[in-house]
Amino acid sequence: MCYGRPTARKVTAPKRRRARLVQPKSGPSVPFEAPRFIWWDGRIHAWDDASVHVSRLQWSALGAPFEAMRAYFDPASSTSFVFGLDAHLRRMAHSMRVMEIREPSIETLREATLEVLRRNGARADEYIRIFAWFEDGAAYTTEQPTHAFVLSRTFPSRLAEDFSWTASVVSWRRLDETTVPVRVKAAANYQNSRLAALEALRNGYDFGVLLNARGEVTEGPRECIFLVLDGVLVTPPLSAPVLDSITRRAVLRIATHLGIPVVERVVLRGELYEATEMLACSTASEIVPVVSVDKVVLGTGRPGPVTTRIRELFREVVYGRVELLADLRTAVSKP
Ligand code: PMP
Repeated sequence: MCYGRPTARKVTAPKRRRARLVQPKSGPSVPFEAPRFIWWDGRIHAWDDASVHVSRLQWSALGAPFEAMRAYFDPASSTSFVFGLDAHLRRMAHSMRVMEIREPSIETLREATLEVLRRNGARADEYIRIFAWFEDGAAYTTEQPTHAFVLSRTFPSRLAEDFSWTASVVSWRRLDETTVPVRVKAAANYQNSRLAALEALRNGYDFGVLLNARGEVTEGPRECIFLVLDGVLVTPPLSAPVLDSITRRAVLRIATHLGIPVVERVVLRGELYEATEMLACSTASEIVPVVSVDKVVLGTGRPGPVTTRIRELFREVVYGRVELLADLRTAVSKP
């Protein structure tokens, strides 16, 4: 790793700047407010000091593993909780191993995540991005120096908002293991997601559902999917394939806690239209009710009772207001 490449300037906090960040509707669109600090290559930097020369951004993102997490700030207890910190870091370790990027260590990234939250104040809901990449060079080697950053920025939860999405099945098929390892979160895999999200948006929907090569349901561009079919919560298995999502795992545990029958099994396309409820879930999108697929209205066309119960309890969980899933919460110590 190239520690020390950035100039060793004194770390001073620049003023916050606002800029519009345009995102597909399949993820929440939040104005980007630059945080004061970022962790880059081994230490905390002031936001404006963390830059690389454009010439290094060529093939470098191809092999880049990354993670996204959220920290939830509970004003009542004045505590910020990272949700699923160790689970996300385990997945990062897996992605790094497969992409053959060896540094930094997961322990370093764990400490960096907590440190960047502490330094930025962590008194709001935050979105955290970990990104590791090879410096530009020959595309197909692993010999180049590597870099990594941990960025946290304010990103309010939408769990208390009453909104829903419309979905369509997109024409692009989900990547599968015959071409790339789909269980890793690597930047290059996301061209598939991007095309799917853009197709759905262009056609006037909020969310695109990807099928696999056999025509079975997999997931969204960056969200896993659950359906309610005959009162049972059904989700495609990891082998569909879908990403081994931390939120998906949490939804499975919450549903079990609520006594809702759950099953992981192959989901056929036609079942999308039979469902009385559907929800999409991920770190960025949290839990979102989906009220129609290809203009076929699901249930009443409003967020249904199963989705609502799961979403409400998920909200209590992430803010640390219930004991449930305490193993997934890491409190950020005060600066
Ligand atoms: N599927 C895909 C393809 C994703 O990129 C994501 C976001 N990481 C998810 C599902 C949801 O995963 P998680 O709950 O871990 O954010």
